[in-house]
Amino acid sequence: MKYNNEMTLKFKSLSENEAFARACVGSFCLAVTNDLEVINDIKTAVSEAVTNCVVHAYPNVIGEIIINVKLDDEQIIVSISDFGIGIDNVEEAKEPFYTSKPDAERSGMGFTVMETFMDSMIVTSKKMQGTQVVLSKKLSEVKQAVVGG
Ligand code: ATP
Ligand code: MG
Repeated sequence: MKYNNEMTLKFKSLSENEAFARACVGSFCLAVTNDLEVINDIKTAVSEAVTNCVVHAYPNVIGEIIINVKLDDEQIIVSISDFGIGIDNVEEAKEPFYTSKPDAERSGMGFTVMETFMDSMIVTSKKMQGTQVVLSKKLSEVKQAVVGG
């Protein structure tokens, strides 16, 4: 039988929640893989996405961030959503070194990191409505416990 699991997290866009979200998603993914490289890649990508929500989506307010994680035998899918200011030009935002905050010690590498550490990244955004980043990672080997039930 195909393994199937899912969870959703909702939290405030406070910077202390970056570490919480990263650890939480990493722990949940341990159900389908023991590969710490895979877990660390996912944690790194989630950190970048959540940081973007905290820094860019809600620049002067505290808003809501929702993370959904889906697990099955073949892949891990993580979506990070905010309801903030949105992105004018997603293609431009995804370019390495593009940042709208060059003076704020931003290097413009967040999306590039997410794309590099994951197998796929889809960004959708609407001005003043919010942004959703969907990241996925294929699993090469599924944990024995999961296969056996
Ligand atoms: P770094 O991640 O290296 O600190 P950065 O955050 O500027 O710098 P990226 O993460 O690649 O770089 O994001 C590029 C740009 O996309 C940001 O500067 C910002 O303008 C926009 N952006 C990214 N995520 C969001 C978001 N959730 N809401 C609104 N704008 C965003
Ligand atoms: Mg960033």
